[in-house]
Amino acid sequence: MSDSLTRPGLTPAQILANFAEAHPPLTQAQALVEANRCYFCYDAPCTQACPTGIDIPGFIRGIATGNLAGAASKILEENIFGGSCARVCPTEILCERACVRTAESGEPIAIGALQRVATDWQMERGNPFARAAETGKRIAVVGAGPAGLACAHALARLGHAVQVFDAKAKPGGLNEYGIAAYKLADDFAAREIGFITAIGGIAIEYRKCLGENLHLDDLRETFDAVFLGIGLRGTNHLGIAGEFLPGVRDAIDFIAELRQTQDKTALKIGRRVVVIGGGNTAIDAATQARLLGAEDVTMLYRRGPEHMSATAEEQAWAQRHGVAIRFWAAPLQITEAHGALSVVTERAIFPADLILKAVGQTFLGGGPAVEGGRIKIDASYRTSLPGVFAGGDCVPGLDLTVQAVQDGKLAARAIHEFLGG
Ligand code: SF4
Repeated sequence: MSDSLTRPGLTPAQILANFAEAHPPLTQAQALVEANRCYFCYDAPCTQACPTGIDIPGFIRGIATGNLAGAASKILEENIFGGSCARVCPTEILCERACVRTAESGEPIAIGALQRVATDWQMERGNPFARAAETGKRIAVVGAGPAGLACAHALARLGHAVQVFDAKAKPGGLNEYGIAAYKLADDFAAREIGFITAIGGIAIEYRKCLGENLHLDDLRETFDAVFLGIGLRGTNHLGIAGEFLPGVRDAIDFIAELRQTQDKTALKIGRRVVVIGGGNTAIDAATQARLLGAEDVTMLYRRGPEHMSATAEEQAWAQRHGVAIRFWAAPLQITEAHGALSVVTERAIFPADLILKAVGQTFLGGGPAVEGGRIKIDASYRTSLPGVFAGGDCVPGLDLTVQAVQDGKLAARAIHEFLGG
């Protein structure tokens, strides 16, 4: 961040408290009460709404009867990232919206919180899955995010040897670098990767970036199959004057810096922050700017609240933390005068010490055929290149962690079949 930015007025203790976990876990008693509210529906609309198809009434029954191992197994069998999904999934638009209790009383079963109870229990005891006998097949997985590691875990279970490559210095993808610190507190993302890779048969090499010091042609020659879970590495631009001025930066970089810094109390933020965008990244950046002590944080969104990709709950969360959301406020230009930045919209001018752009990410291309800005795949996750599969944010579909996990899991099955399994 710019040296011209001031430290906020909060004390270090206040900043540390602000970044404590957003939602504490249920107690054992709370979990039992909540689990016993479930109707254990035969047709389970909650399961149908889950992108990974977890047997939700099945795992809730496990919690209700004290069988936490069985509950965790039902979750992790379908979603090995069940721990982080319990924390970051927008359950309000997925399983909990579909829950019959929502229509009945407006109070769905707290499925995410219950999922956390079971997965936390299992994580304390280690990875419960065993590997099949070694097949002798080697698969390269590019990207150590949820798609790549879900694929790697499923392949390792089937007895394959998996070599994972990642461009960053740590695994986890967006779980490690792109999600608000208070959603995955206490180094949870790293602990979950340890839990997943403990199955064995998975090696990870860092600082290997596809197209730079890692080449698809080499991987295709060296390995029996390749899975690309490379996410979206580019960021969209606003296309307005002033967007590259000092003091204007990508929100995704701001969030990554926040996540990786050892001492958040040393970060400078400035008094006034403007965040441009309407997705979860914009919400996470704006809320964290407030938590760091910025006094005046405004989100500018070019359309109405119903068009925002951030859910109504996420919008309310930001507002509860003091973020002002201005709708129908498309930025026209960013100006700088005597060191002071401003965002100019049709109706108002917003002065700012820091401006964060959160207008989406984009796939950078390279390798297999691309369609609509993402890697083109068929129903079996096959790309245009024989032996190369892809999933997660770099292919069309929902940009959600839970969808990336499902892609990785199903792509692993397709790769196993491709290899003659
Ligand atoms: Fe339980 Fe709600 Fe799912 Fe029915 S829809 S099984 S009540 S969580």
